[in-house]
Amino acid sequence: MDKKNIFFKYLGQSGIFCKGDTFSFMIDPYLSNSVEELEAKDLKRKIPIPFKPNEINDLDWIFVTHEHIDHCDPHTLPILEKNNKNLKIVGPEKVRKKLMEWDIPANKIIKASKKKLKLSEDIFMYSIPAAHPKLTYALDGEPNEIGWILEIKGKKILFTGDTSLTEEIISSLKGYLPIESAFLPVNEDNFFRRRRGIIGNMSIREAFGLADELNIKTVFPVHWDLFDVNSALIDEIKAVYRGYQWKFALTFSCEEVI
Ligand SMILES: [Zn+2]
Repeated sequence: MDKKNIFFKYLGQSGIFCKGDTFSFMIDPYLSNSVEELEAKDLKRKIPIPFKPNEINDLDWIFVTHEHIDHCDPHTLPILEKNNKNLKIVGPEKVRKKLMEWDIPANKIIKASKKKLKLSEDIFMYSIPAAHPKLTYALDGEPNEIGWILEIKGKKILFTGDTSLTEEIISSLKGYLPIESAFLPVNEDNFFRRRRGIIGNMSIREAFGLADELNIKTVFPVHWDLFDVNSALIDEIKAVYRGYQWKFALTFSCEEVI
């Protein structure tokens, strides 16, 4: 794939920034401390905010996977909307409702669907279902929680969004093969997280098993670094990678993704 014209930056948690010659987008930017301020004092960021939302003024798209505030942030999205006059925000129904509550103009809000959105020549984005923790559908017939596939000249990069694994999710993803690279959450669901109302995602082993089964070439783990109670350790991720015979390459460096 042509690497030189497109770059990615990991923003922490599930946040991704992508810039090409003719377009730019973010997925789930969490550029604030709203989780600590609005939800729980102990949910402090472990890593700094990579840049402030009011420093960004050439963003074209934001793709939001679901309405939890570490993905659909009331202290990030309205500021990005104010500073970026051509910005469109795309998301599932519950996300769109929140955006309207935050007075984001209706003409900037777009319904997420499996229909391909054209970002530029030969570059498309479309949504896929996620199970967080179960696959459920909104009144508009689309899933409540989603992931995204970015297609660049026919090559696909997968962002599963927050998801658990089910046969339905795996078979839906198999419908998009081949997939080159994937950004996969690795903050497992477990008893202690569930007890305090945190919905975990795939475990490291589940995310790796998924990548193996889908013959994905490169895996970039996400959603492990931001909050202590919902984290995985980088050494743990690397140990699970080294300890078994996986077919994919593991990377923490966005340059290696495509
Ligand atoms: Zn999440």
